[in-house]
Amino acid sequence: MSDKIKGLVSVLAPEPICDGCIVEKLGLTAPHQASHRTRALAGEAGFERADGRCATCGADKTVIWRNLR
Ligand SMILES: [Zn+2]
Repeated sequence: MSDKIKGLVSVLAPEPICDGCIVEKLGLTAPHQASHRTRALAGEAGFERADGRCATCGADKTVIWRNLR
């Protein structure tokens, strides 16, 4: 499950995505599965998590994206 989230964020890079859209796209059963993983991912090199606009649903939310630089 965690690798799917990492993969999804990587595929979308550099576009940001919110936890809700990650849950929907991956068909996860519980939203906290996404938020736990995105918080952990944010601590990894190349991933950032902050308030922004989700490129998938267009809402202003906490989003995560992969920094390609
Ligand atoms: Zn979204």
